[in-house]
Amino acid sequence: MEYRQGIFNFNRYLEKKLYNVAPKGLFPPEPKRYKGPKLKVAIIGAGLAGMSTAVELLDQGHEVDIYESRTFIGGKVGSFVDRRGNHIEMGLHVFFGCYNNLFRLMKKVGAEKNLLVKDHTHTFVNEGGEVGELDFRFPVGAPLHGIQAFLTTNQLPISFSDWFLSKGGTRASIQRMWDPVAYALGFIDCDNISARCMLTIFSLFATKTEASLLRMLKGSPDAYLSGPIRKYIEEKGGRFHLRWGCRKILYDQSPDGETYVTGIAMLLPAEWRDLEIFNNIYKLEGVPVVTVQLRYNGWVTELRDLQQSRQLNQAAGLDNLLYTPDADFFLFCRSCSNITRRLLHCRARVTPPVVKLFPSSRGLDVVWSSVVKIGQSLYREAPGKDPFRPDQKTPVKNFFLAGSYTKQDYIDSMEGATLSGRQASAYICDAGEELFTLSEKLPTLESLEPSKSSSELRYTSPESPKGLAGIMA
Ligand SMILES: Cc1cc2nc3c(=O)[nH]c(=O)nc-3n(C[C@H](O)[C@H](O)[C@H](O)COP(=O)(O)OP(=O)(O)OC[C@H]3O[C@@H](n4cnc5c(N)ncnc54)[C@H](O)[C@@H]3O)c2cc1C
Repeated sequence: MEYRQGIFNFNRYLEKKLYNVAPKGLFPPEPKRYKGPKLKVAIIGAGLAGMSTAVELLDQGHEVDIYESRTFIGGKVGSFVDRRGNHIEMGLHVFFGCYNNLFRLMKKVGAEKNLLVKDHTHTFVNEGGEVGELDFRFPVGAPLHGIQAFLTTNQLPISFSDWFLSKGGTRASIQRMWDPVAYALGFIDCDNISARCMLTIFSLFATKTEASLLRMLKGSPDAYLSGPIRKYIEEKGGRFHLRWGCRKILYDQSPDGETYVTGIAMLLPAEWRDLEIFNNIYKLEGVPVVTVQLRYNGWVTELRDLQQSRQLNQAAGLDNLLYTPDADFFLFCRSCSNITRRLLHCRARVTPPVVKLFPSSRGLDVVWSSVVKIGQSLYREAPGKDPFRPDQKTPVKNFFLAGSYTKQDYIDSMEGATLSGRQASAYICDAGEELFTLSEKLPTLESLEPSKSSSELRYTSPESPKGLAGIMA
């Protein structure tokens, strides 16, 4: 009892102590009703950021077209159904309880019931199936007193390992506990991930008990996340243009020397690199990631309930989402193209490590598998990279950025993508009058250089009656 009271007090202490450093984007206010002229906005990319921007803009009465290079929407949290009816997902996604912006979006589009809540503890599996638990409500072993100081005053570009060891943490706990967390957050280990990234997450967890509660979608994103968002957008008049990869951003300069986007036709014009905000984007490096989906004829779960794991009528084992410090990450990361071939042509290669980690898979057969390779997934959350993330507003007045890599209070995540979309939309609405006025000037600019091909889109054409803005999401 005394022990429990102690934990309770400790938790209250943390909440109080860390509330002030909690990211402001955790509880953003509802946007003010837009009263300016209606704008016509082109959005490049139908990932969460692009779709979040679209939803916000449509809700404010603007007109939206989304151009997506792939045949399916959702980006990194997307999925599609292949010819045999298999759902191919870009990667497993977990939703933290602090994803207020994403939950708000899901509620808007009627998808809030599509999430299953997992037990509050995070489970780790060690080699041989030995299961350990970590309860982030009381992040045991983290030198928490140092988090506030770091986030408020210290901008040192150091790795989480350096920070943790300087606070008296041990190498052993980095390897056994924090490396799996770092891999889960940024696909890199504690020696490479920035202290800022990890501590931002801890500060979120400490702000609200539910922040560390995990949820997962009931099924694949196309049915339970991107699908409902798409329906909402289309019902509000938004249009999706799939297989429409944007290759070029067309721009011009007004007589007073300002640069404006005149259309969209890869992407950032090389000359824009003279501007620091655009040049910095090139300093953000993507981490390659391979997702291997294995389907067994039973549930691979270390719940130790054989009966549950051998029936196929209902899902078993959600609460058994497992991180592990013992997986051979080299197997998955060293050479993407090799691993793809190896896994596709030699399923036998991946089965032994799985059996070693998850003994419950012994006796089950792999009935289907897929490999999805993303060359540039999240940007590498390395020490000192944070300042290179661009704001949603750019020096080009009618060109905005959205995306989980842009500046917002979260790390590169679904929540970050959604929030970036809200921020981009707010900037556009703030500039509504100015953008509208600009649209009246721009036809003159167009006459300087007419559109060269029908696949180029120009938002300056005379038949475009409204304001214009482009979003790269
Ligand atoms: C394997 C994996 C697991 C993950 N797990 C989690 C998790 O558990 N929890 C979590 O919160 N986050 C997770 N993430 C991160 C999360 O998925 C991303 O941060 C988020 O989805 C990014 O959204 P976005 O809209 O910013 O970018 P994207 O999803 O990358 O969307 C960009 C879109 O733009 C399109 N596009 C690109 N170039 C062009 C062009 N020239 N013309 C037209 N279209 C173009 C792309 O096809 C894509 O659809 C994970 C990511 C990966 C890869």
